[in-house]
Amino acid sequence: MAFDPLLLVYALPLAGIWAVWTFAARRRSAKAREVLEDNRQAGLMEPNSLHPVIDPAKCLGCASCVRACPEKKILGVIDGKAALIEPTMCVGHGACATACPTQAITLVFGTATRGVDIPLLSPEFETSVPGVYIAGELGGMGLIKNAIEQGRQAIAAAAAQARRIAVGDPALDVVIVGCGPAGIAASLGAMEAGLRFVTIDQSSLGGTVAHFPRGKVVMTAPAKLPLIGEVRFGEISKERLLAFWEDVLARTGLKPQFEEQVTQVERTGDLFEVVTSRGRYRTRTVLLAIGRRGTPRPLGVPGEEQSKVLYRLIDPEQYAGQRVLVVGGGDSALEAAAQLADQPGTQVTLSYRGQAFQRARAKNRDRVAALIADGTMTALMGSQVRSIGTEAIELETEQGLLSLPNDSVIVCAGGLLPTQFLHQIGIEVETKFGTV
Ligand SMILES: Cc1cc2nc3c(=O)[nH]c(=O)nc-3n(C[C@H](O)[C@H](O)[C@H](O)COP(=O)(O)OP(=O)(O)OC[C@H]3O[C@@H](n4cnc5c(N)ncnc54)[C@H](O)[C@@H]3O)c2cc1C
Repeated sequence: MAFDPLLLVYALPLAGIWAVWTFAARRRSAKAREVLEDNRQAGLMEPNSLHPVIDPAKCLGCASCVRACPEKKILGVIDGKAALIEPTMCVGHGACATACPTQAITLVFGTATRGVDIPLLSPEFETSVPGVYIAGELGGMGLIKNAIEQGRQAIAAAAAQARRIAVGDPALDVVIVGCGPAGIAASLGAMEAGLRFVTIDQSSLGGTVAHFPRGKVVMTAPAKLPLIGEVRFGEISKERLLAFWEDVLARTGLKPQFEEQVTQVERTGDLFEVVTSRGRYRTRTVLLAIGRRGTPRPLGVPGEEQSKVLYRLIDPEQYAGQRVLVVGGGDSALEAAAQLADQPGTQVTLSYRGQAFQRARAKNRDRVAALIADGTMTALMGSQVRSIGTEAIELETEQGLLSLPNDSVIVCAGGLLPTQFLHQIGIEVETKFGTV
């Protein structure tokens, strides 16, 4: 058969498109592999909560999951197969599983190497300790919409239970622990039901969202709040969401107690005693809406109680012109130190007890190394804070005790997970190792 030169008119552009597409796919694959390797080396391979597991046999490498993820850059396609390349940043939206055309994605808790404790709950959100309820992310289900929905349902169950116990006793009906989306929804439900209650949060209004970086966009589906009705957030900035919660407080008169930490829940007869950093509350029921992010790990040194010591950097600009000590060697410490070093006139010292920043991503290590090299930041490797004074900090260094003039301290020394708290109360949990 004779060769038809007209075929080239069609074949050449197609070959060109194919070549460009292949080149771009290879580049994306190499980039995704690099991110994954970086996280592997930094030991950042354990997702915090619900996350996707991809079956390579079913995966077509179509990247629908990559595009569907609202957090972006959590998944990538490596050598034609989808992979979870930023495991610690996955927050369990689950959009990847829905978008997969071949059902290659399963959403699971924990991994084979790190189990995740999920409390055993009844359909009414009651734990194995009768009268203690759990709502929101602590129960295993992430996302703001789910937290609101569960807060609403759990408080209804707690209200019914409270009405059955020790009628006539002046104890509270419910203590709500946590003022994130679940705790707020539960508190509004408690108000609506006319319960006697307190809402206590160790930090501030809004829960985990309050600690997101400035301007972070949150995506959330419509949800129904007691006393307020249906709310349609859609895509909303962290600041606007927090302003919404402030407005809810103003409109309803809800007055949570902030900066108060619940340390223990003890049963006394039919009632509970909730022990906090400020006092004790007698109550018929307890609703835990404390999320899964845990409590920042304190340094345990004298002077740490001062207001100049914080456990997260939220607004770097407020530190302009200050002498700031950042404690820690992981990603959050390095990111905080680098952001502070960008502020005009800020003197940043990074204190880490290790000798190298092995538990941080390469991009953060490189950024900090460059800032140290050009003298913008000082790093004290192998150092430990001994005490925090109003004007200076004492550090144990390899050269002996060092006194450092100081205005503020940011401690990024990891967190204490709520698991221990649940065990202490006697709540039964199931440890999931990558199973549904
Ligand atoms: C980076 C990131 C991005 C995210 N993006 C989204 C998104 O776009 N859309 C979405 O729907 N979800 C998102 N999420 C998930 C969402 O933030 C959580 O699922 C949601 O906040 C859970 O609400 P919660 O009320 O259960 O717990 P939390 O919001 O975690 O609130 C728990 C509260 O309990 C308090 N607390 C804890 N322990 C104690 C104690 N012992 N005593 C007193 N108070 C205590 C804490 O201070 C906190 O305020 C994201 C999460 C992260 C980390």
